This record gives sequence, structure tokens and C-alpha cells, in this order.
Amino acid sequence: MRKTLCMTIMLLSALTLAAHAEDAAAAKRVKETDKDRIEHWTGKTVMFFSPHPDDDMFMCGGTMKLLAKNGNTVMIVIYTNGDKGSLDLEMTRERMAAIRRAEEEAACQELGIPKENLIWLGYEDGNLEYTDPLRLRGEVCRLIKKYRPDSIFSVDPGADFERWHKTDHRMAARVTKDAFIASEFHLYYPQHLLDESLKPYRVPLAFYYYSTSPDYTVDITSFIEDKVKAATKNVSQFPPSLNKYTPEMSEGTFQFLRKIGLSQARSGDKYVEKFRREDNP
Ligand SMILES: [Zn+2]
Repeated sequence: MRKTLCMTIMLLSALTLAAHAEDAAAAKRVKETDKDRIEHWTGKTVMFFSPHPDDDMFMCGGTMKLLAKNGNTVMIVIYTNGDKGSLDLEMTRERMAAIRRAEEEAACQELGIPKENLIWLGYEDGNLEYTDPLRLRGEVCRLIKKYRPDSIFSVDPGADFERWHKTDHRMAARVTKDAFIASEFHLYYPQHLLDESLKPYRVPLAFYYYSTSPDYTVDITSFIEDKVKAATKNVSQFPPSLNKYTPEMSEGTFQFLRKIGLSQARSGDKYVEKFRREDNP
């Protein structure tokens, strides 16, 4: 009985908190006209933060292609080198990291994004949470001040709670969010201004992927095939290559993955990518 009452109180508290969080999010929401939509952006700088060299492609490939094609600068920051993503007993970390880098570059080529726009932070796969968070946040904060993006895309750190993520995803979500908050205040990392003349910067808009509460949809119907081609460049991350590395993907595997990719992105008669939007006006 006591337990039931306790749980009821907890549930009511959680619901109240959720309602308040929704009110706060709605109050901050900037009114968006049709021409403000991502599909119409041009001349903007957009930074994508990805825990591994493939999350960006799986979750945002269509949006990245759309933005690049429309004359926006797309920068991609990869937290880890993906050096543990293999079940092949003959694979080494060094070789895996080199393969993952080449796959990400090939995927970028499919999307029309130059490999020079890739920024590799180079942390070990699976160990992002065990690195110095203060230093890591500073690295990301510095990049935000340097490139001054009109918007960023990252893993959803959760609207009002810290949701479960795979390790690296959890850390990348928190660090990106913490870094863009710290970017506004020069006293967080004063050496950025003193040593490199990097002024504070307020990121006006963020979109989060792997979200449990997406509220923003980007129409990628024209780019779904580009997205599939880019995502499947990560050959090492799909069987049979995951188990025994081979650089080539069979046509059968490609068609199988294409079918899954298309069905996941399907929404009515369109293909979409979904994000949670956060305004920071
Ligand atoms: Zn990942």
C-alpha cells in the first residue's frame, strides 16, 4: 500500500515535471514560417556532431545531402574513431579506425560534402565517457566558437531527463549540449579568446537525433537514395563484413539494407528524418 502511494506520488510528480518542461519548451519555440524550414536553408553553416563515424549518416544523411546541395556549409564532427566496431577476430584497432575513416569519407562523397569538412576528435571507440569531460567539452566549445554555426545537430540528450544511450552516444549528447551552453560565456574557457581571439558564440538552434520525442520532420524524399548509398558505405558495420571484414558489399546485402532504410524513413507518401528541435533565442 505504502509502496503504491509512493509510486502514485512519484508518477504525479513526473507528470507535473513533464507538463512544466513542455510548457517551457513551447514558450521558447520560435515561430517558424515555411521559408524558415530546413528544406529552404541556403548559405548557412550547420554542424553535425556524431559519436561514431556512421550515426550521422544513419540519422541525418538525407538532411546533410539536402543542406549541402542547397549551398550550405556542412561540417561534421566525429567524437570517436570507431576502432572497436568489428567482430572479426583478425581485425586490429588501427586497421578498423582506418577503415571507418575511409568509409565516412566515402559516405561524405556520396552526399557532396568534402572530406575537409570532417573533423575527427579521434577518441577511442567505447571510451568517450572515460575521457576528461572538461577537456572534451572545451574542444567542442572551441569548434563552435570557431565555426559559429547557424544550427547544430547532435544526439538527443533528453528534453527533461537523461535518457539511456549507448556509451559514447550518452557522452556525445551531453558534451555537445554542455559545450554549446559554455560557448556563450567567455569565462568557461578564457584561453579561447586570449590565445586564438575566438569570441563567445550563442548557438541559436539545435536539432537532436536518436530522440524519443521528435517534433520536427525534414522531407528527404529527393535524397533518400543518396542517404542509402552513403549509409551503406559503412560496409564494416553490417554483416557479413562485421563478422569477417570484407571491403565489398554484395548486391544482395545492399538491396536488403536499402529495403530496411526505405521502410524506416517512410512517412505516408514521403521519406523523412525526424529530430527534436530546441530553440535558443
Ligand atoms: Zn554510434
